[in-house]
Amino acid sequence: MKSEGSKLQEELFYTQKHASELLSEQQVKDADQFCEGYRAFLDSAKTEREAVCTVLNQIEKLGYQPFDPKKSYVPGDRVYLNNRDKAIILAVIGSRPIEQGVRIAAAHIDSPRLDLKPNPLYEDNQIALFKTHYYGGIKKYQWPAMPLSLHGVIIKGDGQKVQVNIGEDDNDPVFCVTDLLPHLAGDQMKRTLNEGVKGEELNIVIGSRPFLDDEASEKVKLNIMNILHEKYGIVEKDFLSAELEAVPAYKARDIGFDRSMIGSYGQDDRVCAYTALKATLDCKPVPEATVVTILTDKEETGSDGNTGLHSAYLKYFIADLAATFGQQGRTVLSHSTCLSADVNAAFDPTFPEVNEKRNAAYINKGVVVTKYTGSRGKSGTSDASAEFMAEVRRVLDKNHVVWQTGELGKVDQGGGGTVAQYIANLNVDVIDVGVPVLSMHSPFEIVSKLDTYMAYQAFLCFFND
Ligand code: MN
Ligand code: MN
Repeated sequence: MKSEGSKLQEELFYTQKHASELLSEQQVKDADQFCEGYRAFLDSAKTEREAVCTVLNQIEKLGYQPFDPKKSYVPGDRVYLNNRDKAIILAVIGSRPIEQGVRIAAAHIDSPRLDLKPNPLYEDNQIALFKTHYYGGIKKYQWPAMPLSLHGVIIKGDGQKVQVNIGEDDNDPVFCVTDLLPHLAGDQMKRTLNEGVKGEELNIVIGSRPFLDDEASEKVKLNIMNILHEKYGIVEKDFLSAELEAVPAYKARDIGFDRSMIGSYGQDDRVCAYTALKATLDCKPVPEATVVTILTDKEETGSDGNTGLHSAYLKYFIADLAATFGQQGRTVLSHSTCLSADVNAAFDPTFPEVNEKRNAAYINKGVVVTKYTGSRGKSGTSDASAEFMAEVRRVLDKNHVVWQTGELGKVDQGGGGTVAQYIANLNVDVIDVGVPVLSMHSPFEIVSKLDTYMAYQAFLCFFND
């Protein structure tokens, strides 16, 4: 028999349980199954370009057509817009008039990494190396002494595009940033963690054998350039018109004796990109509201640039889509709602001091709904309204999605933002919904499989509601 007090407590208090206590055995199995597909996605989509390519391969089989502003569309039509092979918008036309608004989910497919500099190749003491410029927020000391693969494109002088993906196949070579041996690191160890490895020390070793010739200089560099010329038909100047990105070469893995988590590079934000994508593919054949899913680039550098969400490409797409129904883009946007699908920091028992435990997100407590992000006095956030938060809460609870709330760290500890503010600035109701992550922005981020599956369910019921 429960006491009156504990009955009253159950009725009045808000507590968040472990997702496995709230889900059925079958749902836990479904979550594990769902994450098999997710792991494969992580391995095939390590950069924004590869993510777009992987998505295109999936959706073209499913009847998605390139969006054409001159065509007219009917409920159930599925279209996409490829923005420069680095961002993509998918839409499923709903039965409700478009001027009543669309349902948007926006995730990003870029992740922190090491980009090659425009002039990367050099030889020093008979070792060939690449100079890099890091992309996004990284802790630089985390990047030396691990296998790296190289991904991207090189556009040659004649305009021909060369795709590069080397270091992922077990038979491929990999690359590596070196670190100093502890025996000689006395001075380095006195540096702050921030300066432990400096930006200009993130040089990638790529070769060490010389081209056999008596006359030529820089023979190791020459030998590498000769290999690259034979493999890709490129000359050194072609690096000037290239985008080459070094990322961890290892694959996504299950973590834990219970296999309850996934460890991988690039889960911020491919965990939300994948779950939003799957929810789009799996939503009702004819949803009520038109579904618009955006997988964007450049979030990690502040969303600027024509493939980032600070640009007008979403606004233009909505305007063009609205026009096919004889409507104005601004009318559609003003009645639209959006889940900004991005990860949040999970409470880490090893570093509890950065969070306020009553308002932190925890792994396995479900998808995180974050009313506001930003830093200091809520600077740089769109801060969703209580009304919209209530609407999202209603949809999630009605569909038995396990969810929690969470702030990004305690007040004045730091903070960060997402694309929410840029979409909200278009007069859309936006809230952040995503998966809690351990070791976020590290080369090996950790998420829970149950949370990942709950994110998928959250996007699915938002689209189908
Ligand atoms: Mn993110
Ligand atoms: Mn991030």
